[in-house]
Amino acid sequence: MADQTKPHGLLLVISGPSGVGKTTITHHVERAMQGVSSVSVTTRPKAHADLEGHDYFFIDREEFERSRDAGDLLEWAEVFGHYYGTPRDFVQRKLDDGRLVILEIDVKGAIQVKKNMPDAVAVFVLPPGEEELLRRLHDRAREPEDVIQRRFAKATDEIAQARACGAYDHFVTNDDLNKALEEAVGIVRARMG
Ligand code: 5GP
Repeated sequence: MADQTKPHGLLLVISGPSGVGKTTITHHVERAMQGVSSVSVTTRPKAHADLEGHDYFFIDREEFERSRDAGDLLEWAEVFGHYYGTPRDFVQRKLDDGRLVILEIDVKGAIQVKKNMPDAVAVFVLPPGEEELLRRLHDRAREPEDVIQRRFAKATDEIAQARACGAYDHFVTNDDLNKALEEAVGIVRARMG
């Protein structure tokens, strides 16, 4: 029998194309609801602004494949030619403690999470429009033009996939940031009380 005295954790998946503000939304929800963000493992090269153990754990392909094959990852995907995955143990321990756990992952990952953990809530963050997304990607000026164009093409693809796959419970349009933040917190409050 389930232990009725145990607090219920909540697994929140946040996805969306790059440049759409999902990291801002993730941080806000994390603070407002005393949540914890899971730190993914990845084989992508560490960028200058990345902090090891904070943004990602940077590992090589061999190590990634070993932990994936050992069942240590809750979900994983290959994005832009690099592997990304969520460590299972950390997520399970925090959920068992009754915490809100946030995963910022792509559509393929969200589909796996919803299949394995149907109680998870999945939110997809949409840009107000394609032109605005392209402008935001340029504004970030983090990458060269060909990379920006690749991210833009992936973004439009990802939005179509997100709508079609049925894994997302909510779509939040980041038109007005404060409204989007409020909406995201409201979704979690409705589930956690
Ligand atoms: P970036 O390299 O720009 O930080 O992330 C690239 C993409 O990978 C983003 O869409 C991000 O949400 C996704 N991503 C990051 N970590 C994970 C993960 O653990 N699993 C999956 N499936 N996707 C991830």
